[in-house]
Amino acid sequence: MVAADEIANLVGGEAAPAASGEWLDKLRPTDGSVLCRVARSGAEDVAAAVAAARAAQPEWAERTAVERGDLLRELALLLRERRDVLADAVVEETGKPRTLALAETDAAVEMGLFVAGEGRRLYGRTTTASMRHRTVLTLRQPLGVAGLITSFNTPLPNIAWKAFPALLCGNAAVAKPSEHTPVSARLFGELAHEAGVPPGILNVVHGLGGEAGAALVENEDVDLVSFTGSAETGRWINQTAGRRLAKVCLELGGKNALVVCDDADLANAARWALASAFSNAGQRCASASRLVVFDGVYDAFREALLSGIAGLDPEPVISEASLERILAALADAVAGGATVLAGGERLERPGWHLAPTLLEGAAPDAPISCTELFGPVSVLYRVRDLNEAIALVDDSPYGLTAAIHTGSLHRAMRFAEKVQAGVVVVNGGTHGSEPHMGFGGVKQSGTGWREAGVEALDVYSDWKAVNLVADPALA
Ligand code: NAD
Repeated sequence: MVAADEIANLVGGEAAPAASGEWLDKLRPTDGSVLCRVARSGAEDVAAAVAAARAAQPEWAERTAVERGDLLRELALLLRERRDVLADAVVEETGKPRTLALAETDAAVEMGLFVAGEGRRLYGRTTTASMRHRTVLTLRQPLGVAGLITSFNTPLPNIAWKAFPALLCGNAAVAKPSEHTPVSARLFGELAHEAGVPPGILNVVHGLGGEAGAALVENEDVDLVSFTGSAETGRWINQTAGRRLAKVCLELGGKNALVVCDDADLANAARWALASAFSNAGQRCASASRLVVFDGVYDAFREALLSGIAGLDPEPVISEASLERILAALADAVAGGATVLAGGERLERPGWHLAPTLLEGAAPDAPISCTELFGPVSVLYRVRDLNEAIALVDDSPYGLTAAIHTGSLHRAMRFAEKVQAGVVVVNGGTHGSEPHMGFGGVKQSGTGWREAGVEALDVYSDWKAVNLVADPALA
């Protein structure tokens, strides 16, 4: 029996507590109070979920992609119908403002609607052959069982970006959401079943990364691991799943730069810099944690930012541990010579609030300049020109997104062509994505896969080349 404030796993369509009987407390970031208890799963629970997925997958793959798309559309529509309940869950478990939670819920819906439509396309290629009377074409094949491991920061889109394409392509899935955001994940799983997704096709196993997550990565019967999280965890997953040559898709961190040129609309640049650096408490893979500003407008831009920061309503970070880690990095930066222009301190209120923090004077190779903090912290850098700006942007282990603010088409195109990033934005923020556009990064931000867009279908399917040889004599 599972109580309402206990979040069990979803295995083969049934609620299942962890085999160990253990639970984790999930705390509210706004005040540290207990929100609910979550199943603390281990290898046994993961094995049960993978077995349920394996058993259910063949029948699912027998359905046409159009049928699967139709069911997934029902799920997207149900998510839309329940957007208030879903957003409330996200607000409680993350502490973010309701407007953000609603926008993210809508983004998950849009991903579902986009992917559902792909059931009517799922295009392959028909091409020429070297031999007469031979036809050559390609078909997409499901991989089997997909392990989907996600971060807490935008919990519904994170699951939607993986579950919708994984299922459309004919796979069954075992999702391991972040231990920080179990409520929205439970709702997503329940709504999938309410929409008619068969039991066993989308299983949800809760728990800690090093326990439930690691067990999913190590399970020999998982054909694909798709992961959104930190580069450190991603590296371990790549090595571990790589040993059995499983397919691995990694969407990792960023140290994203927003460049402000001397011909930029400074008010617009400041507005986007504030949103990119501090909304969602900076807990975005695409947050603008580096602000690279031309010398000629540096002082004016800094003033615009500081007055904008003064008007922000601080959002909490996800946990006490995260807040302590960020504060330690700030202390280290100051010891290394950086200056705090705003924030830098824990706010005197319950929960895990750090005042939006702006620094300057950090060396480009200082830890604060190279390490992803995943918090409301951004650093200003001064540059002379575009070449220096591009060199500084690229002087990073990451390469997820980058933005430039300029009135010059030449500068915008030069930046877009040269900069080492998977996503480039001109005159906007470093964050924000479209369901029909591939999203992902270079260097330590990923391993070359793209999520969302039709590109996501390449993660969750294999190509099969088919050769049809006709015999004209039989015509
Ligand atoms: P994290 O790596 O700590 O955890 C991510 C997920 O992996 C969680 O579900 C966690 O439980 C699980 N996990 C942890 N250790 C594991 C292990 N050994 N084996 C298997 N699973 C394990 O990251 P986080 O703190 O949740 O998220 C922040 C990171 O996610 C940042 O680096 C951020 O940039 C990145 N992120 C990237 C994208 C993207 O699309 N590129 C999007 C969102 C977040």
